[in-house]
Amino acid sequence: MAKKQFKAESKRLLELMINSIYTHKEIFLRELISNASDAIDKLYYKALTDENIEFNKEDYYIKIIPEREQRILRVIDTGIGMTKEEIEDNLGIIARSGSFNFKKDHELKDGYDIIGQFGVGFYSAFMVADTVTVISRAFGSDQAYKWESQGVDGYIIEPCGKETTGTEIILKLRENSEEENYDEFLDEFRLKNLIKKYSDFIRYPIKMDLTVTKPKDGKENEYEQVVEEQIINSMVPIWRKNKNELTAEDYHNFYMEKHYGYDQPVKHIHIKADGMVSYTAILYIPEKIPFDYYTKEYEKGLELYSKGVLIMNKCPDLLPDYFSFVKGLVDSEDLSLNISREILQHDRQLRLIAKNIKNKIKTELLALLKNDREKYERFYQSFGRQLKFGVYNDFGANKEMLQDLLLFYSSKDKKLVTLAEYVSRMPTEQKYIYYAAGDSLERIEKLPQTELVAEKGYEILYLTDDIDEFALKVLHTYQEKEFKSVSGNDLGIEDQDKQEEKDQDEKVHQELLEKMKEILQDKVKEVRISKRLKSHPVCLTTEGEISIEMEKVLSAMPNNPNLKAEKILELNADHEVFRALLSAKENDEEKLALFTNLLYNQALLIEGLPIKDPVEFTNDICKLMA
Ligand code: ADP
Repeated sequence: MAKKQFKAESKRLLELMINSIYTHKEIFLRELISNASDAIDKLYYKALTDENIEFNKEDYYIKIIPEREQRILRVIDTGIGMTKEEIEDNLGIIARSGSFNFKKDHELKDGYDIIGQFGVGFYSAFMVADTVTVISRAFGSDQAYKWESQGVDGYIIEPCGKETTGTEIILKLRENSEEENYDEFLDEFRLKNLIKKYSDFIRYPIKMDLTVTKPKDGKENEYEQVVEEQIINSMVPIWRKNKNELTAEDYHNFYMEKHYGYDQPVKHIHIKADGMVSYTAILYIPEKIPFDYYTKEYEKGLELYSKGVLIMNKCPDLLPDYFSFVKGLVDSEDLSLNISREILQHDRQLRLIAKNIKNKIKTELLALLKNDREKYERFYQSFGRQLKFGVYNDFGANKEMLQDLLLFYSSKDKKLVTLAEYVSRMPTEQKYIYYAAGDSLERIEKLPQTELVAEKGYEILYLTDDIDEFALKVLHTYQEKEFKSVSGNDLGIEDQDKQEEKDQDEKVHQELLEKMKEILQDKVKEVRISKRLKSHPVCLTTEGEISIEMEKVLSAMPNNPNLKAEKILELNADHEVFRALLSAKENDEEKLALFTNLLYNQALLIEGLPIKDPVEFTNDICKLMA
């Protein structure tokens, strides 16, 4: 029979897997058991909800059989099985869901922690086996199929016999080498420990035939060795256990076991609620962003169980979008097994649970922020953006919920601060919360617009994320303090004397300002004498709702709404450049045009905006030098 080829990407990944120097080869067992358990879940649920299917709880189990002499390890389940097509779809391609497209940015290299990043499930079998055989019979089918592969050179698939529904995975373990010993995976004691360590909470019995020493029938002091089928795992789902029975490691193992993520979550939350609605939940707040998190591929949701039976893999209605990064599960006595997706959405109990969960997550995040700032910041690094989107979305409907979870970089502390921290440090005369937006902290630091506010000694929030300014616009105020951009037209701190002086200047230099505006035409709305510049000759500020940073974001959007900031060119009347402008106005109109264009382009550069015509700009500079 002709060998079929793996899809190209699968092949590469498989190659890496096989040659991987991964130190935790043992996790292959966890992966196979977890697949087996998922397959049983599917059948179990079917049986419970379809009265035509016979139901016997004892029929659902996983069995592990090591065969020492043949160096074979079998993992058998009584789950839903796979049809021929399913076998090909599921085992011929790695990561159908796009988890492989990640590779655009990260090159796949030797030593790359594939498992750590993506958990490649079934394929991990190749880390310990040189031949993997899968025999599976799908529920409702009489025909079983055998799939077999030695790794990268492809696989065969053919019909075969199998008495019962379910799947059997047969691993022909690799030969031992100097560096590696695969015999351990044939050792009863070692296997038992691995099951205990990684799969103790699997809700179906994991059985093994173990050799035990027992007293001989009716005789004292005489023993015999007998083989006995034992259940290795405790089967109590972790969420049913008491918190004080569980260690941090238990929670972490469960997180890995469930494939919620491959990082170290910053927090787990174990809820047992008995009130208006009773439910148990285990939730995790991850530390790292899943590779597809900020794409439309990402599906939010928690696993939903009813009385211990899985009824939905990802129930989206349990999580608001702004907490879509939370992983975990909910088990409730109050939900019906037969509930459909549509009804579920409107289920009162479910909505109550979702509301409780939402509040609990917030409380726990706040506690983390308070008690372990460093951890919180790691979390925020990954998901802060999502929280800020949450503030902005739905016209700010959730801003109260989220505002205290936000962090922004502060000009004063040079680190992330909360809005509450900012406000608590405001001098009494300071009226506004100031912010400056730009591409990077370094860039903002140098913005001329920040000069006056900084001179006053006021703290400035530096916004570098494209969503930041939109979020603050929606927040509008925090503790009754309004947010103000340092580039906005009224900073609310110009002192009275100076103000009048500048207004005076404005009148005196009216002619110059008008001429410059004429030269720049629609590029700016107005040319003005600045009240905020100290050492710089020029800057751009804006009037109206849209700032320069917002313009940048909007124009980068696929459906560019073509909204522009109303730009004001501000000149520093105390700067010597200004005197040069005045003299040009008197003596040389051409020079004034040259200066004006140069200054305008400089202001654009400072803002990180592109210059319309860079060649013209450099020519202008050359003219000046010659
Ligand atoms: P994942 O479990 O993350 O989806 P795997 O590579 O481990 O990725 O498995 C791919 C798919 O193959 C599973 O989603 C499932 O549909 C199917 N599968 C794997 N093992 C079994 C099994 N023991 N019984 C039934 N289906 C299985």
